[in-house]
Amino acid sequence: MPLTKDDKLLEILEKGSTAGGLSKEECKYLLGFNEHSPEASLTRSVADDFTRRRLNNAGVIIGQIGVDIRPCEGGCKFCSFANDTTKFQKYTISDKELVQKIEDFTRFDDLYGLFLMTMHAYEKEMLLHMIDVAKSVMPSKTQLWINVGDTDYDTFKELKRAGVRGAYHVCRLREGVDTALRPEARMQTMRDMISAGLELYTCCEPIGPEHTIDEIVDNFFIGIDIGCIQHACMRRVAVKGTPLESRGQITELRLAQLCAVLSLTAPKVPGFKFMSIHEPNEAGLLSGANLITAESGGNPRDLVVDTKENRGWTMGRCRKLLWESGFTSLRLGDESHIPLTLDYLKETGSMD
Ligand code: SF4
Repeated sequence: MPLTKDDKLLEILEKGSTAGGLSKEECKYLLGFNEHSPEASLTRSVADDFTRRRLNNAGVIIGQIGVDIRPCEGGCKFCSFANDTTKFQKYTISDKELVQKIEDFTRFDDLYGLFLMTMHAYEKEMLLHMIDVAKSVMPSKTQLWINVGDTDYDTFKELKRAGVRGAYHVCRLREGVDTALRPEARMQTMRDMISAGLELYTCCEPIGPEHTIDEIVDNFFIGIDIGCIQHACMRRVAVKGTPLESRGQITELRLAQLCAVLSLTAPKVPGFKFMSIHEPNEAGLLSGANLITAESGGNPRDLVVDTKENRGWTMGRCRKLLWESGFTSLRLGDESHIPLTLDYLKETGSMD
């Protein structure tokens, strides 16, 4: 008996797996299948194969350091820093802490990109100083990225001159409803960033059980239409004490199905590179994602000041998960590769 008699499904998967990129309607069709159906399993499998062929079976690790914590005017109802509900006080990491965190991430020179993350509002001079500190200690093979709030073109130009390669930015699901930010400002920031010569890493986030397929697919295409070079799927974590905690979470399996469909769609963007799953998990890495993130410092999904003590993934865990997921090399920020083997995991202390 054939796995499926659904010719439309097979045609869509064939199109996606040859870098044809899917339309919104095709994405919605694939996402209409239950995540534990044979059709969803086939979609995940095709996306997995497509990404591995496209990127020579290389995994990618980025490291994010939350450098600045404060009650945040972004007011996101799922975030531990939102000004209405947070218990955090203002805290900025010292130069010494920043250097230590960068050294933790780059000890074995296998970090593709380092992200410095601030709250929505940030002090430009503080960020420029941290960029200088980071550049003085990070390896040349690691790219420097930022994750900041809405920012204008001139500031992005300045950040590029300071050595920043690109930035993470999103227009979230239900932005302006579950957040205090304006969707148009979020999108303008992404357009200004690209105009200023920075690369855009975006994400469909934070996905919760209440989001419809139409909402999710429309969100996929914000980054695709603007011209991102990395895309991702992230589920909302039900952070204790936040207004959206009671809405719960989707499973990693459903997140993996979403990731698979986006993995078959986003590579139609010229210059598109990697697909990420956040937080790291094996189902996503077997469904088209090849990039995961180690985290240190402030984290909107955590309730401690330094997420490396709690939710944040270490470099060692990331290496091991990529290896367990069958990736055979790591891609570095200069686009070179190193083998990802059991011996390498032992050498880097990643089996502990
Ligand atoms: S998710 Fe970001 S912008 Fe929103 S409240 Fe949290 S720190 Fe602020």
